Amino acid sequence: LKRKNCGPALVEAVEEGSPAAIAGIRPGDSIITVRGEPLRDVIDLYIALAETGHASVGIERSGELDEVTLDLGGGPPGIEVAEQVFGELMRCQNNCVFCFVDSLPEGLRKPLYVKDDDYRLSFLSGNFITLTNLSRADVRRIVSERLSPLYVSLHATEPGLRKKMFGNHEAARATKVLKELLREGIELHAQVVLVRGVNDREHLDRTLSDLRDEFAAVKSIGIVPVGISTGGRRTLDAKYGYDAASAGEVLDQVGAWRERFGHSKPCAADELFFLAGLEPPDAGYYDGFPQLENGIGLARLFRDEFLSRQEGAFARGSLEGTALVTTPTGRWALGPLGIAEAGAKLVEVPNGLFGVNVNVCGLLPGASVAEALRGVEGIDSVLLPSVALDSERRFIDGMTIEQASDRSGVRIVAVESSGASLAEELKRYSKGGAG
Ligand code: SF4
Repeated sequence: LKRKNCGPALVEAVEEGSPAAIAGIRPGDSIITVRGEPLRDVIDLYIALAETGHASVGIERSGELDEVTLDLGGGPPGIEVAEQVFGELMRCQNNCVFCFVDSLPEGLRKPLYVKDDDYRLSFLSGNFITLTNLSRADVRRIVSERLSPLYVSLHATEPGLRKKMFGNHEAARATKVLKELLREGIELHAQVVLVRGVNDREHLDRTLSDLRDEFAAVKSIGIVPVGISTGGRRTLDAKYGYDAASAGEVLDQVGAWRERFGHSKPCAADELFFLAGLEPPDAGYYDGFPQLENGIGLARLFRDEFLSRQEGAFARGSLEGTALVTTPTGRWALGPLGIAEAGAKLVEVPNGLFGVNVNVCGLLPGASVAEALRGVEGIDSVLLPSVALDSERRFIDGMTIEQASDRSGVRIVAVESSGASLAEELKRYSKGGAG
C-alpha cells in the first residue's frame, strides 16, 4: 500500500565515520526517500535503515535532489533527525470539556497549542492518546510493527459518558480498538483523568471494574485529578477540581479497588496524596513506576533517590545562602529530606499564568520565578528543577534562565529533576559538610 502523510526528514547531526557520513549525508540535508519509499516518521526511517546491505537514499540539499548510497553493513547509520514525525501530526478529533490545551493562557510557545493525538508520539515519547482517531490502517501498522507500549487516556468505559467527556461520538468505539490492541499483544498503559462529579464515584467503580474484567491486560492504570487552570481561553470551573476531602475519598476508593486487582493495580497520582494531606506510599505501591511522567510516584522516587545519595542529614545551617525554587506540591515532596532544616530556603512560586491550582514545576513561568525570588533575602544561589525549562533553557513563557537570573538579581542554576541529582548538587553548595 502507498504510504500517506509522508514528508522530508531534516538531518540534524551525522556521526563522524558512520555509514551516513561516508555516503556524504550532511546536517541540513533532508531525506526524502529510502530505497525509493517516502517516509512518514522516524519509525519508517529506522526500520528502512535497520536492514543490512546497500540502501539508496534520496536527499534534498539546497533545493536540489540527489541520491546517495549507504553501506549498512557496519553498524548504525549514524543519522539524527530533527523531528519524529515528517508529515502532518495526527490531530485530536475530540472536544473534551477539560481540555488542558484550551485552558492554556495566550502568548506561550506555539507548539504548546497543538492538539496532537498521534500514536507515533505515544510510542516514541510516551504521550497519552485517545484512540478515537485511528484508522484501520493505523491499527494494522501498530500491530504489524509492534509499536508498543502505548499510553491511553481512557477516563471512563461507559459509552455514553465517554461520548460526553470527549465531546466525540467516536469515543465509544475507541474501547473496541483498545480491546483489539490488547488482544494483539500491544502493551497499553491507561490513565483516568478524574473530573469531580463527572466520571468519579460510581463511574470510577464501573471503569475500574471493566479494567479488571474486560481489559485485564492493561499494564498500568493511573488515576489523575483534572488540572484547573484559571489563565486560559476556556477554563474549567473550580468545582470540577479536588480538595482535601474529595481527594481523600478518591484515595479510599482507589485503595479498595487495589485489593480487588491481582496485578496492574490502579495507582493514584501524587497530587491526590498532596491534596489529601497524606504522605506518598512506599515504592511497592507503584510497581516499577510505569507512569512517572504522569506525576504518579514522582515524590516517592525523588525522596528514595535523595536519601540513597546522602549518608546522613545535612548539618544544621550548612545550606544557608541556597534557595530551591519549588511549588506547594514540590515542598510536600521535599518534606522530610532535611533541606529546610539545613538552612536552605524553599521558595514556593505561585503560578502567575495558570493560577494557584496548577502547581507543577514543569509549568512555572520565568516571570513568576523571577518575581518570587526578588523578595527573598540572604541567598547567593538558587536551584531550579530543570523540568521547568525546554531544550533551549526557556521557561514556558519564553523567558530564558539567564533573563530570569537578571530580573531576580540572583544566579539561578538548573538541576536535573531527580532526587539523586539534587542530593549531589546540594553537597556542592553545603558549607560544613554534606551528610
Ligand atoms: S484529547 Fe481532549 S484533552 Fe486532549 S487535546 Fe484533544 S480535546 Fe484536548
